[in-house]
Amino acid sequence: MADSDEPMVVDGGYGGTCEWQGRWNHVKKLLERAGPFTHPDFEPSTESLQFLLETCKILVIGAGGLGCELLKGLAFSGFCNIHVVDMDIIDVSNLNRQFLFRTKDVGRPKADVAADFINSRIPGCRVVPHFKKIQDLDEIFYKQFHIIVCGLDSVVARRWMNGMLLSLLVYKDGVLDPGSIIPLIDGGTEGFKGNARVILPGMSACIDCTLELYPPQINFPMCTIASMPRLPEHCIEYVRVLLWPKVRPFGDSVVLDGDDPEHIQWVHQRSLERAAEFNITGVTYRLTQGVVKRIIPAVASTNAVIAAACATEVFKIASSAFIPLNNYMVFNDVDGLYTYTFEAERKENCSACSQVPLDLFFSSSSKLQKVLDYLIESASLQMKSPAITTTIDGKNKTLYLQSVASIEQRTRPNLSKTLKELGLTEGQELAVADITTPQTMLFRLCFTS
Ligand SMILES: [Zn+2]
Repeated sequence: MADSDEPMVVDGGYGGTCEWQGRWNHVKKLLERAGPFTHPDFEPSTESLQFLLETCKILVIGAGGLGCELLKGLAFSGFCNIHVVDMDIIDVSNLNRQFLFRTKDVGRPKADVAADFINSRIPGCRVVPHFKKIQDLDEIFYKQFHIIVCGLDSVVARRWMNGMLLSLLVYKDGVLDPGSIIPLIDGGTEGFKGNARVILPGMSACIDCTLELYPPQINFPMCTIASMPRLPEHCIEYVRVLLWPKVRPFGDSVVLDGDDPEHIQWVHQRSLERAAEFNITGVTYRLTQGVVKRIIPAVASTNAVIAAACATEVFKIASSAFIPLNNYMVFNDVDGLYTYTFEAERKENCSACSQVPLDLFFSSSSKLQKVLDYLIESASLQMKSPAITTTIDGKNKTLYLQSVASIEQRTRPNLSKTLKELGLTEGQELAVADITTPQTMLFRLCFTS
């Protein structure tokens, strides 16, 4: 117990210097002596720890289940310069596992509360919160970090972050400048399954290289949803996918928002009616929200394991003391427990990191709708709402754009025109923008006869 004269260091409110005898002994054991698992080029020294404490700047994306664990793990490992980005506010349902939050914090931004907690609990640690979307921060912001670690639950956000780091790469005469690489450590969990991976943008497999690993988000065949529902989920999907766009209960341009209780209530009621029609039971408000938001129950222990693995990789790379994970670790404790690692390979024609414009093969009599469908449905592209533009006779032409209602209306007729009717020619470059990447992607149109 601390004497009354001595400052309390572990409960926050600590005023004096941040160090005390033996504070970093657990880290020094790893950095100030060699061992069987150290990197072959590693030379024990006291400089590594100084680098972690003073210089190394880490960005944590997400302050949720993984983010809370990551911030705690990094702070205890000696990282003192941490930024955290999260756009969410705290919900009461987060409190069982997002342990930096208390009941009094419900309604406050996760990033702010997480940063305050770590800063007051761990003397000397400076966590800077950003209550924002990752898309609202620019490359000057992302460039300042040595390592970025993601604890996200969204594939789109992951892909955007991946795209941002790829856009920061500098190539000189076609050779990648290693100084422009910011390592990305990515953790993901789904119930009792999880993975941790190390991505060196431009060097090793990126998120989009392995996009086929992510299952498409729609789980039920459309015919089941439309005509032969068997499960309560099918009824909810029917209302979400088919009825909502038809009825537009909250106005023409209002999209279904899983966080809006009135929307969920509407879907719930219609789903009950649908279920009654087919003698299906089990449609509840909670299930409705789960299906609409595609909620998979979060498991605290899985988050803890994956975040610990990610924080360890950050430590290994920042200190250069150990060989990083190469490059993908799978963890599963659904039934027993197992884990393995494999080396995810770069995809030669990866749409995000390969540096070559992709060829799109279509007949000149194909309609633009077909191209749009391909961009969305292709397992390796999985775009969400692609905007397609091109240059015809030196002029920029928007072929289709969904996100702005007036432009959507104006360009919608193009979807039923053929590529030839639109004036597109062999080898034509199409620029495609989508929420899955901060960069515009270039495609080359190749006509099949
Ligand atoms: Zn790639």
